Amino acid sequence: MPKPPALDGAALLRWVELELPEPPWSEAEPFLGFVYLDPQAGLSAKGGRAGDPSQVERPSLTVRLPIGVPGRVLDDDEVARRGLPASPSWLSIYGPQPPARGPWRTDPGLRGRFHPQYPDDLQVLVHDGEPRRSGKRTEVCWVRVDAVVDADRALYEGALLSQPHQLVTVKAGDRVRFLGRPGGQHPLYVTPEYLAERDGWEIQPCPSCGMKECLDPPSVMARTRFPDAGNDVPVMFTAHCAVCGPPHAQVLQRRDAARGG
Ligand SMILES: [Zn+2]
Repeated sequence: MPKPPALDGAALLRWVELELPEPPWSEAEPFLGFVYLDPQAGLSAKGGRAGDPSQVERPSLTVRLPIGVPGRVLDDDEVARRGLPASPSWLSIYGPQPPARGPWRTDPGLRGRFHPQYPDDLQVLVHDGEPRRSGKRTEVCWVRVDAVVDADRALYEGALLSQPHQLVTVKAGDRVRFLGRPGGQHPLYVTPEYLAERDGWEIQPCPSCGMKECLDPPSVMARTRFPDAGNDVPVMFTAHCAVCGPPHAQVLQRRDAARGG
């Protein structure tokens, strides 16, 4: 028998049906509920017996998610056909809700990374740039995602929830942008300066962790390595992976140089 699908944050602010093992009703009917974020208890669904329309606005049962029982999300057509509201009026009791249908919740690069009870919170590698230049270690911090900046690049934005221990360029509460699929172990915090230069470079990933992004803009990395070169940026250079360290290295090559042969 296939493992039942566990409803995750992708179900947030949607109607779901769950097959509860011991529902408090005798009819052979699933639980119908609306998924919301309880500020204290996290991801939850509120509703009742599917065949009882009074449960839609006056739910009798609260289920904390995720839960290991079979369940499904109702699509828009079914919600309309069954006469369910887009969202029930009791929802306002639980305060402001996260954005509806945030596309990051279903990004295959991010799915499974979110906190099970707080469906927009995930861990991101944050930094002050290359440790070699900044003298600061990278840290892994929680970020609450709330916006897509560039879906093609998997570039997202959110608020930094935790205070880094020793970093000086980012602090709790800051708006931060991160790449969802940088290779390596975690999504990666990026600066506007880095993004501005990124398209001009090919980066051969670290053979150890697979990271295909860097922490500093390539021109800054070049100055760190070749301080006497002035503003001449080399067409190609290698850099030890900022996460793995030596001997693992990335290779950076300027696209304009690559095109010229
Ligand atoms: Zn690496």
